Amino acid sequence: MIPTTMRAPHFAGQGRIDFIDKPVPQPGPGELLIQVHANALCGSERGQFFNGANVTPGHEATGVVVAVGSNTHTTVGTSGAVFLMDFCGECRNCKQGATNQCLHKRADMGFNKDGGYGPFELVHETIFFATDTLDTSHTSAPLTPTDATLLLDVMGTNGHAIRRAQLVHRDIQSALVSGAGPIGLGMLAMLKITHGQDLPVYISDISTGRLALAEQLGGMPINLKDGALDEGVRKHGGEKVDAAFDTSGKQVARQAALTVLDKCGVFVCIGHGEGLTLNVSADLIATERAVMGSEYFCFDELPANLAQLHQHHDYLRQIITHRFGVEEIQVAFELFWRGETGKIVIEQ
Ligand SMILES: [Zn+2]
Ligand SMILES: [Zn+2]
Repeated sequence: MIPTTMRAPHFAGQGRIDFIDKPVPQPGPGELLIQVHANALCGSERGQFFNGANVTPGHEATGVVVAVGSNTHTTVGTSGAVFLMDFCGECRNCKQGATNQCLHKRADMGFNKDGGYGPFELVHETIFFATDTLDTSHTSAPLTPTDATLLLDVMGTNGHAIRRAQLVHRDIQSALVSGAGPIGLGMLAMLKITHGQDLPVYISDISTGRLALAEQLGGMPINLKDGALDEGVRKHGGEKVDAAFDTSGKQVARQAALTVLDKCGVFVCIGHGEGLTLNVSADLIATERAVMGSEYFCFDELPANLAQLHQHHDYLRQIITHRFGVEEIQVAFELFWRGETGKIVIEQ
C-alpha cells in the first residue's frame, strides 16, 4: 500500500533540516513513482543546506518502482537509479547522446523538482535507469541500493570526465586529481579502473583523512599543507602528468595543476567554483595542451558503469564511508561539511 502522505526532510535554511508532510505524488503519463532506499550526499547541496530549498533535495537516489503511469514499460518492483537531469530526449543535443546538455531540460531532480531525500520520488521513466537488468549470477554480492548510488556522481561524473580527456589524449600514462573529496576519490578510482591499477595517479588535498582513503584506493597522496604540488609529485618520483582533473573548484589548485601538466596534456575541470588564468601562448599554443570542462554525464554511459560497478564492487564501495537513516540527515550533513569523509549515504 502506498500512503497518501509522506514525511520528507525540509531544508529550512541556515543549516537546519526539519521534516514536513507532503502528499505522495501519483505518476502521470510517462512517469514512475520510486520508493527511495538510498540517496548520497553531495557537495553541490551546500547552497540548499545553508540557504534553504523549496523542493525536497537529493539527486543521487536509488530505489524501487512502486507505481507506474500510462505509456510506460517499466514493471513495478524494478530497482534502479535516478539520473539528475530530466532531459527532453528530442533536442539536437539529446539526439547526439549529450543528455547532460539538453537544450530543453525539464528539471534538475532535487534542485527544482522534488528529489531523493523523501521516501518517494516522482520521475519521468526516461531518467530511471534499471539496475537489475544485468545478469549478475556470476558475481558474489548483490548490488545494494546504497552501492548503486555510486553509479551517479561517483562513477558517472568521473567516467564522463575521463572520456572527455580521452577525446584529446589517447595515451594517458599518468594523471593528477586535485581534491580528494568524494568526487576526487571517485576520479581516482575510475582512472584506476579504466587505465589499470598501475597508472600513476597523484591526488592532492589538505585533509589527511581523505588522503589516507585516497592512498588506500591506490593513489599517491600529496598534502598541500606540506609543500607545493610539483614538489609533491617529485617526491613520488614523478614530474609531469598527461591528464589533470580538478574536482576542487579552487583557482589555486587549478593553477597548480597547470604547473605539472605535460606537453599535449589535457586538463579537465569538474568542480564548479572559482576561475583559472591562462597564458594562452605558453599554456595552450606552444604546448598544445587542452583545457576543458565536464558536467555530470550522459544517460547512455550508465550501462557501462553498471558493468564496471559489478566488476569492481568491493574496490568502489570503499568510497562510501558513512551511512545514516533519514532521521539523522542533519547530523550527516554536519559531518559531511567537516570535509573528512568519503561519500555519505542516507538510507531508508
Ligand atoms: Zn551531486
Ligand atoms: Zn534535450
